[in-house]
Amino acid sequence: MSQDANGSTTTAAPGSDGAGNGDALENLLHENRKFAPTPEFAANAVVGAEVYEEANADRPAFWAKQARELLSWDTDFTEALDWSDPPFAKWFVGGQVNAAYNALDRHVENGLGDRVAIHFEGEPGDTRSYTYAQLTDEVKKAANAFESLGVAKGDRVAVYLPMIPEAVITMLACARIGAVHSVVFGGFSADALRSRIDDAEAKLVVTADGTYRRGKPSPLKPAVDQALSREGHSVRNVVVVKRNGEPVDWHEGRDHWWEDTVGAASGEHTAVGHDAEHPLFILYTSGTTGKPKGILHTTGGYLTQTAYTHKAVFDLHPETDVFWCTADVGWVTGHSYVAYAPLVNGATQVMYEGTPDSPHQGRWWEIVEKYKVSILYTAPTAIRTFMKWGREIPGKYDLSSIRVLGSVGEPINPEAWMWYRDVIGANAGKNGEKKDHPAPIVDTWWQTETGAQMIAPLPGVTATKPGSAQVALPGIAIDVVDEAGESVPDGHGGYLVVREPWPAMLRGIWGDPERFKDTYWSRFEGMYFAGDGAKKDEDGDIWLLGRVDDVMNISGHRLSTTEIESALVSHPWVAEAAVVGASDETTGQAVVAFVILRGDAVNDGDATVAELRNHVGKEIGPIAKPKHILVVPELPKTRSGKIMRRLLKDVAEGREPGDATTLSDPTIMAQIAQSLKK
Ligand code: ATP
Ligand code: MG
Repeated sequence: MSQDANGSTTTAAPGSDGAGNGDALENLLHENRKFAPTPEFAANAVVGAEVYEEANADRPAFWAKQARELLSWDTDFTEALDWSDPPFAKWFVGGQVNAAYNALDRHVENGLGDRVAIHFEGEPGDTRSYTYAQLTDEVKKAANAFESLGVAKGDRVAVYLPMIPEAVITMLACARIGAVHSVVFGGFSADALRSRIDDAEAKLVVTADGTYRRGKPSPLKPAVDQALSREGHSVRNVVVVKRNGEPVDWHEGRDHWWEDTVGAASGEHTAVGHDAEHPLFILYTSGTTGKPKGILHTTGGYLTQTAYTHKAVFDLHPETDVFWCTADVGWVTGHSYVAYAPLVNGATQVMYEGTPDSPHQGRWWEIVEKYKVSILYTAPTAIRTFMKWGREIPGKYDLSSIRVLGSVGEPINPEAWMWYRDVIGANAGKNGEKKDHPAPIVDTWWQTETGAQMIAPLPGVTATKPGSAQVALPGIAIDVVDEAGESVPDGHGGYLVVREPWPAMLRGIWGDPERFKDTYWSRFEGMYFAGDGAKKDEDGDIWLLGRVDDVMNISGHRLSTTEIESALVSHPWVAEAAVVGASDETTGQAVVAFVILRGDAVNDGDATVAELRNHVGKEIGPIAKPKHILVVPELPKTRSGKIMRRLLKDVAEGREPGDATTLSDPTIMAQIAQSLKK
């Protein structure tokens, strides 16, 4: 145990750094397992350990090299980074580049036109594959169609589509002509769509009649009609993809079927370079901690870092790998690692429209087996769901093609990490065969704001640790600092910051430069404040500990939600856990845990609660024992699958829950309130 963990050090008041530890987070969880890459993997890896040194020697030069290697520029840039007016960065100054040309045309010109770019799998089982030549053709047509509807460089286009190839085609067509896309997740309401349309003053909306959800047609177009039913909006045209064939209302003059506009457009379209700093897209954050922010990304730096990380972190061999990122295009992960990086890198990827349990709970593994997916990138929420369903389900499929596994979106509990490794990464066939060397797992920390991965192991270099994102990527300056902005020593916790500008960094909050400065650049002088708590372990590896807003202060000890949740999830009865600090008269705050039990666990009321409390006490110490443990049927999550602890905290403290517009199931809060009353 470290000296913090037994509670023997004094915890100073906020603002002071008395004991050298300030009011830093305390290290509680102890995870000693480590998995080094095999010599074979290391020998064939696309990047080796030398990249760190190279990047440290001259960060902007390192990124300039990547920019020139990974992208084709119409006009070369004259300066890697202009940081003369912080926090407003300019990367690759003077360069001209077209994102769609880089994702498409150049691969065709290089003789890769017949390589499959996208294997699409619809929820009902329909499939479509696009080669690079075909996808290029579609994007050229869409670019012509959008231009004929009056969309010009700099105009904003709202995209409200399901996970179908037209979503990617639309985004790339916008990028091609220099229009700025703003993708709104298809599960959002008409109100959420309208507020995002208004915020960006979108001229065009691209949508579909609907999609399929759990075997049933699910409508989209009615939400667009409702969003636009109130006057005073900026939208001139709506393009509608026919996906599920359900009847839709039609607004003559405003609405156009995709097949009549894009389908009829010319396939000749020449891409011209746009300035490296030309806006590429606006995307709203998930809303886990509050009201979503419209994050602005630009072209050259964003493409460079997404392409580089996609290659280095997933060890991408584009000639042979089949990549599958399960994120919806409505989230940043679906932008960076579905729409852009895999295509810029010339990879073959899988895109799936539906839910993991349609028509059965083995659907994902069936897809992996069918397309021989070799790199799978998903979120802890999905992994915990599969754990709940049981290992027999993936065990029925041949997942031997998998050679790299990725995780993103939330801290991954060590237990879920080990399950991912053992059940998915070690699967060598449908008869229970196991690999001697399971696929490496890369836990990737990043945000909508960072645009691309920032902290992650390199699978051919790093000895991975269950539950830790571990190391800043080459060219990225990550630190953990105390209240005063001083770097904390190894073995201590604090606030996660980025010390130097990075290529894919957000360029602002759309239309609100002051909010940009206040939110990210005012907490610590000259540093980007990510809003997450983190610790450095004794090796200097980084562990993400949850939102700073969620940190608990129990009798003067600052505890992380993540560590207590991980302790709960390590108990065989628990599938998922969410922990909050609720105000308490004696201890300042008390730990309140909400848990979901696994399918085969029985809830014995007080006995179950006592068992789980003692388990936490044993795993991390008495100070972390939850005062209350509530067994609940579900947890409130954002549409992107992240636990919304602030709503649970509202419940635990007897308040009306706050902004829940990005909640996936609006009835969850009532169900939880009900279980509290009992
Ligand atoms: P909002 O900013 O509106 O509250 P959000 O932060 O959930 O929403 P995103 O940009 O989608 O919006 O999520 C980024 C956050 O997700 C990070 O700040 C971090 O808290 C969490 N996160 C992402 N990846 C990881 C990871 N690998 N480990 C731990 N946390 C992660
Ligand atoms: Mg955030």
